[in-house]
Amino acid sequence: MKYSELDSRLRKVYSRIRTLDDYHWDLSGDKIIGRHKKSDLKIRIRVANSREEAEKLSEVKEGEGLDIVVVPNKGTFYIHNGTFIMTSKFLRGTLVDINDHIVWRGFKVVEQDGKLMQEDFYEYLGGRFIEHLKNNMTIGQDFVFWQFYKCEKCGKYVDIDSVRSHLKEHGIKIEDKDEMMYEVFEISIIDGKVYDKFGKEVKEDKLSEEAKDFIKETLESFKS
Ligand SMILES: [Zn+2]
Repeated sequence: MKYSELDSRLRKVYSRIRTLDDYHWDLSGDKIIGRHKKSDLKIRIRVANSREEAEKLSEVKEGEGLDIVVVPNKGTFYIHNGTFIMTSKFLRGTLVDINDHIVWRGFKVVEQDGKLMQEDFYEYLGGRFIEHLKNNMTIGQDFVFWQFYKCEKCGKYVDIDSVRSHLKEHGIKIEDKDEMMYEVFEISIIDGKVYDKFGKEVKEDKLSEEAKDFIKETLESFKS
């Protein structure tokens, strides 16, 4: 198939998103298949002539990932059957927002062909994404994501930059670890609270002293 033979509506949609290099794009006959490069999250983008047609398409699920249907209706943006239905104008911003909600959450050193390599893990915070959309919240302005490590000794959550010194106090050397997984929490600048990926508040007594200080400093830096 030649590019010029591609559905002109699909070409138009594709031309809006192809400069987003966090994604890899494949063009097939009736859809654009995206893959978030770091996390491998799949995104399928289709086009429809009307909202009704888009809603019909939303019934077709082709596996894991996100489905988006672009419609010509102006100012459209809603979720139906878990599918995002929107005007092409909102597509690029949505993909940028999705990228902002994919956060690194850990690593593991694995042996492959006699070599050691680091495997990285990412988390798509889809529940938070929907919540932020509903409330018009912007990353870096209304909230930030941060990684916290649940200490195996005291059970408290430690902010990622304090893990080395925290574990040292327990007599654990961070360099001995070949695998570390973190929880991604949301620090809300609006209400000063911390939330987990499900939107449940993480209470202060779950946090280490360092983490509490870190959160306080973060909130203060946004105030000034
Ligand atoms: Zn501890």
